[in-house]
Amino acid sequence: MAERYLCPICRSNRSSFEVIFKLSREIRKDPDTGEELFQADAMSVVLRNDRPELDIRCLQCGYTGYEGLFVKAAKQGAS
Ligand SMILES: [Zn+2]
Repeated sequence: MAERYLCPICRSNRSSFEVIFKLSREIRKDPDTGEELFQADAMSVVLRNDRPELDIRCLQCGYTGYEGLFVKAAKQGAS
């Protein structure tokens, strides 16, 4: 089901956003020097409860935060 968004900071934007996907890549570091010894070739999208973990950016005020904050603000704004 589609979730509505409302920016929790400016509280006036419900329509213009950027979606930010988080990517992860496994690495190995030398514990003493911090040098990277290995980098996996593949990057994978970070998941949370089998859904991509997204940040949302408000294109009105520039605030960036976890998607859940925008969904929660929209639900509160509706009641
Ligand atoms: Zn905003």
